Amino acid sequence: MPGLVDTHVHVNDPGRAEWEGFASATRAAAAGGITTLVDMPLNSTPATTTVAALAAKRAAADGVCRVDVGFWGGVVPGNVPELEGLAAAGVLGFKCFLVPSGVDDFPHVGERDLREAMPVLARLGRPLLVHAELPGPIAAAEEAARGGDPRRYATWLATRPPAAEVEAIRMVLGICAETRCPVHIVHLSAAEALPDLRAARARGLPVTVETCPHYLVFTAEEIADGATPLKCAPPIRGRANRDRLWEALRDGAIDLVASDHSPCPPALKAREAGDFMAAWGGIASLQVALSAVWSGARERGFTLADLARWMSERPARLAGLADRKGVIAPGADADLVVWEPEAEWTIEGARLHHRHPLTPYEGSRVRGIVRSTFVRGERAFDRRADGKAQDRFAAAPTGRMLERTGSGAAERSGIVERTDRAPSGGAVDRADRSR
Ligand SMILES: [Zn+2]
Repeated sequence: MPGLVDTHVHVNDPGRAEWEGFASATRAAAAGGITTLVDMPLNSTPATTTVAALAAKRAAADGVCRVDVGFWGGVVPGNVPELEGLAAAGVLGFKCFLVPSGVDDFPHVGERDLREAMPVLARLGRPLLVHAELPGPIAAAEEAARGGDPRRYATWLATRPPAAEVEAIRMVLGICAETRCPVHIVHLSAAEALPDLRAARARGLPVTVETCPHYLVFTAEEIADGATPLKCAPPIRGRANRDRLWEALRDGAIDLVASDHSPCPPALKAREAGDFMAAWGGIASLQVALSAVWSGARERGFTLADLARWMSERPARLAGLADRKGVIAPGADADLVVWEPEAEWTIEGARLHHRHPLTPYEGSRVRGIVRSTFVRGERAFDRRADGKAQDRFAAAPTGRMLERTGSGAAERSGIVERTDRAPSGGAVDRADRSR
């Protein structure tokens, strides 16, 4: 299959590399069949909201990546003067929040900021990725949920109502219609927003939609008290909602699936207390996204072609990389994943290559084992089929940094020079599992 393109990854590097980091994230990506990942502009320090911050990102990623890496820039209040420079420097597009993001150096924007930024992005031909929840419905819901048991999942769920997503998406679609700025709704959770999204698409608005493995796998009914590894925002909702997300993948209202891998040090998940309100929000899933989504898709009668469309082709198109990533085609990079769709395995966090073993998929029985991952024709990862679980990586990291230029993309020239001198071909050595 074409290698996966994961357009929603929080690498947290530089600044919070102890949360993940480019070396560990790209190892996990390679082991999970992902050949390109795109890093989110927040949770690192600095956040990628200036050209200087993008340079710091590239310095952190330089020479340590196992797969190809691109960067989203950020839209925050007051940084419109930076947007053109960030685009010229090669960011693939821009991300914004409409509610507090959880980190102080990535404040959220409001309608007025969007009216300033979106015409600029439309002119630059870069999509705006939107964390679509509005503060108003959340504040009202928090008031109503006050005094609830913080160990109960229902308490957290009640504070992030579907209305927060629905109203945010309506607001953004309105400005999208005025400005024609391409809009991408990240991590859609509330199925209630689907009618508006379908109508917008029917009107020809440039809008795309993503959901994540956790919204397709887990359900609120099954989340145990204190199971804080499952806390994320927007939250995982009920079973009927999950079924509607799968239907939206079937009819095309949802374009793609990205991991929203957002790990943190285990202590921040407040597991001893099991306090959903105190825990950091974010789900670690990068390496298991292929198996998690495929397991659910297969049960529902979807095919490998559907999976490749959701997790390779469409994300590559979103990132402006469609001419060379996400497809097996003449002229495209030979980014490939060789995997066994029927093979079963049990997810054990300690055996994954994420920096931290904590994942809500712990103990899940899934189908789909990655055997080899090729990045631009070179074997980046290899897992032996002989039963001795041995994960092996290429001798040297050969991932490149991708940038978007005009409608296409190219590597930064300095990086090309360096990686072309790196060992290549069959040079695959024993994995260093020490982290
Ligand atoms: Zn995210």
